[in-house]
Amino acid sequence: MIVDLITIKDSQTAFNFLLQANEIDLESETAKVRNTTKVEANVKKGIAQTDVKGKIYTDLEIECSRCLQPTENSFEIPFSAVFVTPENYTEAKEAELKGEDLEVSIFEGDKIDLKELVREQILLNLPIQVFCREDCKGLCQKCGANLNLIDCNCEEKEVDPRWAALKNLK
Ligand SMILES: [Zn+2]
Ligand SMILES: [Zn+2]
Repeated sequence: MIVDLITIKDSQTAFNFLLQANEIDLESETAKVRNTTKVEANVKKGIAQTDVKGKIYTDLEIECSRCLQPTENSFEIPFSAVFVTPENYTEAKEAELKGEDLEVSIFEGDKIDLKELVREQILLNLPIQVFCREDCKGLCQKCGANLNLIDCNCEEKEVDPRWAALKNLK
């Protein structure tokens, strides 16, 4: 979804659109988009900057941090971003925007890529850890088995060193 600022006549324009899962490549090894992502964006064209505010509704498949099985997660991500052209990105502007704690993107020309913005916002909002369930047992450190599914008995096989010594005698 490319917004051509030249064609925006009104100071504020709403862009509501859908992105198919294959249109958003998160380039992440642990997360990917599952379904259609819905985006509501409001673009406000100013003289020195363009503000884009809105909300992203997306379903992601994220690896469980413990057992690496895919988990399904729905997110509602509110965002607020500012686009500034290089000539308008002065030190004063930088300081002003930093103070407001906004995502700042520098762009050339008159076009803003909302799809890329959506991708960035999803990545920024990925949880650090995701668990398939609260008591996920994770993977066995020894054999890599998913301990939620099987009991590999590696722990029990951990032989008492005294027995190990006996075993070697045989
Ligand atoms: Zn898990
Ligand atoms: Zn094991």
